[in-house]
Order: sequence, then C-alpha cells, then structure tokens
Amino acid sequence: MIATQQAINMFVQETGGWAASQLEACTRCGMCAEACHFYQSSANPEYAPVWKLEILKRAYEQRFTLVGKFKTAIGIDKKITDQDVAHWSELNYYACTVCNKCAMVCPMGIDLGTLLHTVRSGLAAAGMVPEDLETAVMKQVIEGSPLGMTASVWDSRLEWVADEWEVDIPRDVKGADTLVVFTSIEVMKFPTNVAAIAKILNAAGEKWTVSSSAREVVNFGFYEGDQEHEKLFMRRLFDGAKELGVKRIVVTECGHAYDALRFHAPNLLSEANDYEIVHITGVMADLVKSGRIKLQEGFYDNVGTLTLHDACKIQRKGGYIQEPRDILNIIAPKSFKEMTPNQEEAICCGGGGGVIAIKAADPIRYDVFTLKIDQVNKIGANMVTMTCSNCRLQFTDCMDHFKLDWKITGLAQMVADAMVE
Ligand code: SF4
Ligand code: SF4
Ligand code: SF4
Repeated sequence: MIATQQAINMFVQETGGWAASQLEACTRCGMCAEACHFYQSSANPEYAPVWKLEILKRAYEQRFTLVGKFKTAIGIDKKITDQDVAHWSELNYYACTVCNKCAMVCPMGIDLGTLLHTVRSGLAAAGMVPEDLETAVMKQVIEGSPLGMTASVWDSRLEWVADEWEVDIPRDVKGADTLVVFTSIEVMKFPTNVAAIAKILNAAGEKWTVSSSAREVVNFGFYEGDQEHEKLFMRRLFDGAKELGVKRIVVTECGHAYDALRFHAPNLLSEANDYEIVHITGVMADLVKSGRIKLQEGFYDNVGTLTLHDACKIQRKGGYIQEPRDILNIIAPKSFKEMTPNQEEAICCGGGGGVIAIKAADPIRYDVFTLKIDQVNKIGANMVTMTCSNCRLQFTDCMDHFKLDWKITGLAQMVADAMVE
C-alpha cells in the first residue's frame, strides 16, 4: 500500500481543495467523453476524461471529506488499492495524450488538462509510471536525451546533416539572437527537418545558434508528470541560453516540447521569463510576411491532395492556427484541402503525451489512429503535413502498420523546399 499512499499524498498535496472543487462542478454531461479520441475510437467508458480523474476525486474525498470517510467506512466507497493505482496508471498513460481537447469543450470550465497532469504527478510519485516511459526519462536524466542523443552523437549527427544538405548550422555561438532547440526525434529520425530549418534561418539572415548543452528540447519529465525531472530538463535549456546570451528561444517541430517550455516553464522556473519563447511555425510565417524569405507560389500544386494535421499543442493550445494555413495558401493554393474537424477542434494523432513510447499501449494507439485515417481518406488526401515531429512519428509508424500510401512531411521541410533561392 506504500505506492497507493504516495499517490494519494501527492494528489492531495498538489491540488488540495482546488481539484475537488473543480470536479464537484462536473454535471456528468459527457461532452468531454465525446471529444476524447480514445473514447471516440473505442466507446470504452473508462476512457472518458472525467473517469481518468476519478482516482483523484476519490483520494481527496476519502482523506478530507466527512461524507467520503463515512462512505469508505461503511463500504459504499472502496478504499483505493495498489491495483486501482496500477489500473489508473494504464488509463492515464496509455489512453491519454494530454491533448486538452476535453478541457476545451467542458461547459463547466473544468480545467481537465491540469487535472490530468496532476494525476500523472501522483502516479509518478507512487512509482507507477509505465516502464518504457520511465526508461526514456532516465535516459534523458543520464544521457541528456531519451533517444540516446548524447553530446557526441549530437555532434556527429549535426556534422553529417550540414555536409549532406550543404547547410551551415551555427553551434555554440555567443551573442547570437536566437537559440534554436531541436528534438532528438528530428535529429535522429527526421534530419531533413534540421537541414530545412537551418536553410530557412540562414536565408532570412537570422543570427541564430544551436547549443551543445541545450541540445534536447523533448521533455520526458513533462510526459511522466515528475516536476523535478521536468525542471531539470528545462533548466538545461535555460542554462544553455544564458551561457550564449540569446534573447529568444525557438522550439522546432515538437508539440509537447513547446507546451512544456512555453506554458509550463514560466510557472516552474523564473528564468523562463527572461526569454521570448516561440514556435518555428510562427517564425516561418513572420519571415514570409515580412518578405525575409520568399516562397514559390503554387510550388506544391501538382502533388495531388494535400492536407494539414493540426497538432494539439501547437495549433489548439499554442494558437498557431492561421500561420500554417497562410503558408499553405501560398505554396499549395490548389492542392491544400482541410480535414474535418480541424483547427482547435482537430482530432489528435493519438501518439502524444508519451503514448508512442509505451509498447504496451500500441493497440490503443493504432485504434485511435483509425479516426485519422477516416479523416484523411474522406477528403482523398495523399499527402499530409504537420508542425509536430511527434505527430509525424505517429503518422509514419501508423502508415507502416496500416500499409497506407500517403506522403508525410513537416511544414518546415515544405517551406525550405519551396523557397526562392
Ligand atoms: S464535460 Fe465537464 S461537466 Fe461534462 S462530464 Fe466532462 S468534466 Fe463533467
Ligand atoms: S486530454 Fe485529450 S486524450 Fe486526455 S482525456 Fe482529454 S481529450 Fe482525452
Ligand atoms: S503528438 Fe501531435 S497531435 Fe499528438 S498529442 Fe502531441 S501535439 Fe497532439
């Protein structure tokens, strides 16, 4: 029962009465369930967002309310057991991407996103993080990256990208204006993204740099729910930024990394407020708008039907909704077609929140992706672009799994290829 007590302590200590009062406002209307892609694809009532929070509610009631204590004493409510904690660990880590869509639709304004994070914090304190995810976290603690991108691996990969695509990648430049922080997903799996972003920033004449100490923007502590790990990974980035004296940090194509750094970091570390933190999607749109880079109109109009997958953390939460559309309306005005629903209401890819890192969650993750397949097929698209490499990883993996014949790409790569030299 030690694990259970630790989880309960953390739930109660983290949120106190706030979580309880939030959940008390719930009218059980079911709108959050209808909005959740895990529930939509399975109709499993346990995947309803509010049910994923049930353990939080029970923990608070049993510890603090007279009614809760009474109900537990006479056996109406069962005491939370280790098995319950293990079960809710699966519900929260396997079947939630922390995409925040449920929070957006709740008519009572319940902050479901924050509450779901709180559940993860309690589970992390109880040592109930799925093994695969925990292994990735520890790799990031020890090696600096969950994908094994140590300093020497990073060094040789960047050297190779610079040679292969004949592009200059400024490293550890003191006095640069902008620090660009890539994810290991890009450096290790989608190196064309690194080359593309370098090409764009160089063409715009930006004074930018990457940093060997701030080389990994992915934050597995954020997925895990352990604030100390989360802060450790953020601090590495801010220390790197401070060392180089930059004013601005540009997060590349990773949704959760952007959420962690842009929205979580200012609440956790005061140094976050020393920098302007922006996403590459906004940077590219600004460069196009100001004429610092020029794009060939209609460059992608012969690719068939192209669509945009809206990433929850960049479009819905980050607000970069119009920017990718402005770009696509220049480079693909005829081939670009929207999926339905889109923008804030878009359906999540199903691989975020660490879900793709958990092998045991694969069947659930594939099941959820069938919603995306329907969306893409409905408009007959054969090419899908996006602004998040984690989404791209999920799309690429699901293409293999479902034997799909789509072309998947990142928006930065499209912009770089369509630039007028
Ligand atoms: S949408 Fe809000 S009020 Fe409705 S069931 Fe979900 S949490 Fe409760
Ligand atoms: S955050 Fe997203 S995945 Fe998680 S419960 Fe809410 S809608 Fe579902
Ligand atoms: S990977 Fe992309 S779509 Fe999936 S949860 Fe993250 S931001 Fe959302």
